[in-house]
Order: sequence, then C-alpha cells, then structure tokens
Amino acid sequence: LSDRLSGVFDKLTKQGALSDEDVSVALREVRVALLEADVSLPVAREFIKAIQEKATGQAVTKSVTPGQQVVKIVHDELVHFLAGDDANAGELKIDSPPAPILMVGLQGSGKTTTTAKLAKRLKEKNKKKVLMASLDTNRPAAMEQLAILGGQIGVDTLPIIKGENAVAIAKRAKQQATLGGYDVYMLDTAGRLSIDDELMAEVEAVRDVATPRETMLVVDGLTGQDAVHTAENFDERIGISGVALTRMDGDGRGGAALSMRYVTGKPIKFVGLGEKMDALEEFHPERIAGRILGMGDIVSLVEKAQETIEAEQAERMMKRFKKGQFNMNDLKSQLEQMQKMGGMEGVMGMMPGMKKMAGKIEDAGFDDKMIKRQIALIQSMTKMERANPQIMQASRKKRVAKGAGQDVSDLNRLLKMQRQMGDMMKKMGKMGKGGMMKQAMN
Ligand code: GDP
Ligand code: MG
Repeated sequence: LSDRLSGVFDKLTKQGALSDEDVSVALREVRVALLEADVSLPVAREFIKAIQEKATGQAVTKSVTPGQQVVKIVHDELVHFLAGDDANAGELKIDSPPAPILMVGLQGSGKTTTTAKLAKRLKEKNKKKVLMASLDTNRPAAMEQLAILGGQIGVDTLPIIKGENAVAIAKRAKQQATLGGYDVYMLDTAGRLSIDDELMAEVEAVRDVATPRETMLVVDGLTGQDAVHTAENFDERIGISGVALTRMDGDGRGGAALSMRYVTGKPIKFVGLGEKMDALEEFHPERIAGRILGMGDIVSLVEKAQETIEAEQAERMMKRFKKGQFNMNDLKSQLEQMQKMGGMEGVMGMMPGMKKMAGKIEDAGFDDKMIKRQIALIQSMTKMERANPQIMQASRKKRVAKGAGQDVSDLNRLLKMQRQMGDMMKKMGKMGKGGMMKQAMN
C-alpha cells in the first residue's frame, strides 16, 4: 500500500520532464514575444539559448502543459535576470555631500524631467537638500525648463549665466553645492538626437570635473532596439551606474530594459510613468518581465497549479504522518525541503508545534553536505526498503551503505532519525489540532 501511495506522489509532483522538443516549440513563441517587445535580436537569441539549456529536463507541474511550464521558466529567468543582484534598486548613492549625480542620455529621452523627478524624490523621501543645474547650453529653453520644474517641486536650481559652457557650469554647481550646504547636486546634461563624438566628449569632460557618485542613463522605454546601442555607447565612454527607463506609461513593452541590462550589466533603477513630477517609480522586475513577455495569464496559471499541488501534497503528507506513516520517501522529501529552506529550523518553523520538538531529534548536523549524504543513502535503497525501512537488516544495511560510499554507522543514524521523526509525527497526530496550536504558541 505504501508503495502505491508513493507512486501517486511521484505522479503528483512529476508528470514528466520537459523534452528538448517541448522546450524548442515553446521557445519559438517566446522568441516572437521578446522581439515584439522590442528586445534586440542578439539579446533575444542569447536569452533563448540560455533558457533552452536550463529548461530541458525540468519537471512539468500537473495540469499544466509543457509549453506553459516553459513560459513560467522564461518568466522567472527574466525576473531573475532583470533584478540582478542589485540589492538596493531605487536607491542612489548620495553619501559624502555634496554628492554629484550626472544625468546623461539622448535628446528627448526625458533627462530633464527625470532629473526633477529624482530631485523631488531625494527631497521628500530621503530628506535631502538638492541643487539642480542644467548643462544644456545648446537649447536655452532647456535651462528654463529645469528652472520651472525646480520652482514647481521646491528644489533650487543653479542661476543661469549666459554664454557659460557645460564644464564651467558643472564647476559652478559643485562650488555652489559646497558653499550652500547641499547634500546632492544634479547635473542635467545636453543630449543629441543620436550618439556623436561631440556629445560624448562634452559629457566626458563634465564627468571628469564632477566625479559623479551616480551616472544615470535616461532611456526612452519606447525606443526598443536603439536602446542597446545607446546604452552600450554611454557605458563604454562615460561609464554609467544605472538606468532610468522613461515613458513606461505608454504602450511600449519595455524590451529595452532587458537588452540594456544584458549588454551593460547595469541595473535599471527607476521607471518613468508620465510627465508629472511624481510619475516615477523604483524598478520592479516582476512588472517589466510580465510586460516584456506579455503572457501573464499563463504565468499565473502555472503558479496557481504549483500552489495547488504543494497544498495537496502537504495535506496528503500530514494525513499519513498522523497515522504514523513516515518512511524513507517522506524523510527524503523532508530533507530536500530542508535543503531548499536552509536547515532544520526552516522546516520545523513551518509546521505548527514542531519548533519545540525539533530539539528532540538527534542533532545530526544539518548542514548542506550532511543532507546530501543522507539523501545519497536513501537513494541507494530499493523502492521496497524506502517504503518499509523496518526491513533493513545487516546485509541490506551493508549493501546500501556501500552503494552510497558511506559506513553502516551513517546508515544507522539515518534510520534512527527516520524512526524519531515518525514517532514525533504520530504524537502530533494524536495531539489533534488544538493541541498542536497550543504547542506552537508556547
Ligand atoms: P530631455 O531632452 O532628455 O531632457 O527630455 P525631457 O525631460 O525634456 O522630456 C521630453 C518630453 O518627454 C517631455 O515632454 C516630457 O514631459 C516627456 N516625458 C519625460 N518622461 C516621461 C515619462 O516617463 N512618460 C511620459 N509620458 N512622458 C515623459
Ligand atoms: Mg533636457
């Protein structure tokens, strides 16, 4: 009976693995979605290739098609990749006042608007005293524009002096920021319609006098493919520290985010969602990933199926445990759970009433290495032995230990643990719900 039950378990958790073919078919659609979202071709190609390798062989959740499963894997990879390991997305380095922040990008990308939005955020959220300076000497109106925005949000702007060049303005901004006791000063540079040498040389010169704490590249989220080229160029010549993606209130799908992250490795820190001064958000990788892929329904369907299965599985297990059934298959899944959640504490903490009892189990040293060795022992058992560990006699023990490259004493410890956990589960079952809760609260 136990064997049959564990067979059911297997079917529940795994109804098969993704084949090369499954993955290829699904990824063809994903590829189209990425390109439609304006992800650049080389980036889409590389991303797909990485997924192909990663997804093949992964398990398919019950009641989900292989294709849907692949979409979910792609989605998770996208989120993971967009998030990077940037622990403080949405934050700017503004230590050692006055901290210079350099804003760069093409003309019309939203630099001036984003400069003011960020200044407002720094003022209101971080309680910083901010000075803004426009270095856009090409278009006098641009300087006025920043001054007007400054007035709206109550942030000071550097007085405009006609005829001054960008480097001179940057120097004056630094001086003013120091004298005026500002925490941050922001330099809003001029842009061009496309990358040219003159623009880059000017921005370089400004960078050299300002030595910015952050160099934010502002990119129009609707530009798609071109964004890669822009980001690559600015990063090579100026060295950017992060990206602000504007116009994400439009119907662009945001493929630029993926491309830029891929090419520069620099984090996307902010997202612009309109012309208004508070239409700025910190970057949420989940949202952009959903938009790029445009398959949100499938993703939530798979998530739902996974949750259902986890719940069903947990319920079935609990039922068995209460009856005192706890074999090596159960122990194995508990150990695997531990691996995932970082040790005994994690697992025990999840189950009501377990925290207190955890101490009663022989402390076998639940580090990752140990868990791996224990799982190896279980894998070395036959199906029948796993389901009925009480049949383990000397000769079986010898064979199993040898198979896992371990000693019989190691196996004995494992068997003891399985018995102890089984006893514990049985006790919990007898306690009933009220008892468990009481225990958990102590
Ligand atoms: P700059 O040339 O890079 O300084 O660009 P601007 O800041 O002057 O912005 C150009 C235009 O884009 C202005 O009309 C802004 O109001 C608009 N803009 C900037 N950011 C956003 C955004 O996130 N969403 C929308 N819808 N418009 C924006
Ligand atoms: Mg501007």
